[in-house]
Amino acid sequence: MRIAVDGPVGSGKTTVALKLAQKLGFDFLSTGLMYRYVGLLAECKCKGVENLECLQRLVKGLDFQLQGDRLLVCGESIGSEVRSERAGELASKVAVLPEVRRVLTEHQRRLSKGRNIVIEGRDIGTVVLPDAEVKIFLVATAEERAKRKYEEMKAAGLEVSYEEILKQIKERDQRDATREIAPLKPADDACIVDTTGKSVDQVVEEILRLLEERRVG
Ligand code: C5P
Repeated sequence: MRIAVDGPVGSGKTTVALKLAQKLGFDFLSTGLMYRYVGLLAECKCKGVENLECLQRLVKGLDFQLQGDRLLVCGESIGSEVRSERAGELASKVAVLPEVRRVLTEHQRRLSKGRNIVIEGRDIGTVVLPDAEVKIFLVATAEERAKRKYEEMKAAGLEVSYEEILKQIKERDQRDATREIAPLKPADDACIVDTTGKSVDQVVEEILRLLEERRVG
């Protein structure tokens, strides 16, 4: 069974999808990590995301593997630097490039083949696995998502402004939802789950109930 979990930045996708995978004993793939990795690599190897020729060469040489919930690239675990805000920004810039999307989509399809897997991203239910057995689309207000990010960063000891985070979230939403290829949107047959005001556990329970209803149905 392949469970696609999509949604905008800060909707709780990664945390919810990972917990869901753990509860079900499924493998887990965060496709955002791949875009983040390519974004960082573009910056250090191609001196930016604008050098398309260099970027295409670079992305073609990547070899991703999945071990349970661990994503490996060329045999090595992806480092923690991909989780930075900077990596997120760079990811959303390389994510508009057709060649990058084509190559990463191929990897995502290959990695999810023949597995029980929860796979999360922006376009899993619409483009990567339009035939996924279950599709979940998480939503939450921009203010709630900014509040979560603000609290997370403050807890990590970072000096941040709520207003600035809200602005960045709205910009990222805009870029992800209006890009020409694979824009962020729910698949027609996705279940929309609103996470506003809910804890991770509550959302995971809600999804497990949905799965159970389907099984019974
Ligand atoms: O989910 P995460 O915040 O790690 O993703 C970083 C960026 O990568 C997103 O803002 C989006 O632009 C891009 N992305 C994408 N398609 C995916 C996963 C991520 O375009 N399937």
